[in-house]
Amino acid sequence: MNQRRQAFRRIIKRRGRPLTCPLCNFKFSFRRYFKGRCCPKCKVPVGFSLGYRVVLTSVGLVVVGKIVYTALLTRSFVGVMLSMVLGLVVALAVQAVIFRKFPPKLQAHAEGQIWLRLR
Ligand SMILES: [Zn+2]
Repeated sequence: MNQRRQAFRRIIKRRGRPLTCPLCNFKFSFRRYFKGRCCPKCKVPVGFSLGYRVVLTSVGLVVVGKIVYTALLTRSFVGVMLSMVLGLVVALAVQAVIFRKFPPKLQAHAEGQIWLRLR
């Protein structure tokens, strides 16, 4: 009974805090990340890796492209205009799902134009 409760607690903790600081391994939630875009514990500015951002952006563009293309085939101006709005909404929803299912790996980086090696 106690073991099952502990396992359940661990799952809740993992779901609620999907992000891990690359330097101090502190786990935290998306809400705390978007507050300051840095690790809440060691205050090092962190961001999503380049590969993750590329995948997120290209998935969004593919979704918008597919929906707008489908609307273009119907040859209706209003349909194309609506499809652009709909495509944007659907793309954001798909990106949110990816965010939840595959949490990004964070990388430490320097703020502004100064790039430092932090490790
Ligand atoms: Zn940290």
